Amino acid sequence: MSPPPDRAPADRTSPLALVPAVCCLCGVEDAAPAAVGADFEYRTSPDEFLAVRCRRCRLVFLNPRPAAGEAVQIYPDDYHAFQFRPAEFGLVYRVRRRLEARRLLRWCRGLPADARVLDVGCGDGFHLGILRDYGRPGWRLEGVDADARAVAPAQAAGLTVHLGNVEEVTLPESAYHLILMVMTVEHLPDPSATVRHVARLLAPGGRLVVVTDNTGSPDFALFGGRHWGGYHFPRHTYLFDKPTLAKLGTAAGLEVERVGTAASPVNWVYSLRNWLDDWGGPRWLVNRLSLHSVPALGCFTILDMALAALGRGAILQGLFRKPAAAKGGES
Ligand SMILES: [Zn+2]
Repeated sequence: MSPPPDRAPADRTSPLALVPAVCCLCGVEDAAPAAVGADFEYRTSPDEFLAVRCRRCRLVFLNPRPAAGEAVQIYPDDYHAFQFRPAEFGLVYRVRRRLEARRLLRWCRGLPADARVLDVGCGDGFHLGILRDYGRPGWRLEGVDADARAVAPAQAAGLTVHLGNVEEVTLPESAYHLILMVMTVEHLPDPSATVRHVARLLAPGGRLVVVTDNTGSPDFALFGGRHWGGYHFPRHTYLFDKPTLAKLGTAAGLEVERVGTAASPVNWVYSLRNWLDDWGGPRWLVNRLSLHSVPALGCFTILDMALAALGRGAILQGLFRKPAAAKGGES
């Protein structure tokens, strides 16, 4: 079923056109139901969605999922990645920027003075801006993002950002010393294909950092049947744990340097919010659980820091390296 072509993108009452999916690691559809949920956060459609878990590798994925043409509807103008501005988020923005700066610079250790850095799925340029402000002046920073609404503010801020999917944009092969994919792979139609492509762009010895939601976390164990914030129904297509994230890198010919976890309050806050909202909880309480809520973010940051110390934080961080002497067969 496809929507009428003249439908306005903001129409949130029409069901989405859906297409079947397979596990991007195994290439098959052999999966068991994991969760049913709706777009609790933005209500971009009336649909309920099914998340499944691959019986072979345990990767979680949306099946069926929105057709490519539905992106305009499922990423509304008020989507937070377009709207994470200092004026609106105040203290939360400043704290997050400081924490992200520490994390980012750790990944940049050992980069040459004239390193080329690419941020795939750079959104409004949040990470590139941090690298420009806190990194070395000789670093050549570039981003790529498929959504014009995200790219426009990044370009307006003077950042070099290409509009399009990373596979479509013309970028040099074997050129980048560091490539970031921060909260990107879970949105992709085929993360395996994209990471294989990105691996070709890496210079020999270059590093790829993949950050994504963790299905091996306690928040997933508690809420994964329906309300888990990391689903972001229907915007997240593939969801990883440590073993499947490692496989994503090795399948692209990269060496695993480290796959670990980090603390993040976001999925906790959304999970609780979705749970309350779904059960008809009081509006004032539901609305209090948001990325604007300093107390909620603070409490769950402390909880998740403890979990991350045990290797079970809400966010996965995969650090991969392209072999210095690239194995043959690079095409
Ligand atoms: Zn699989």
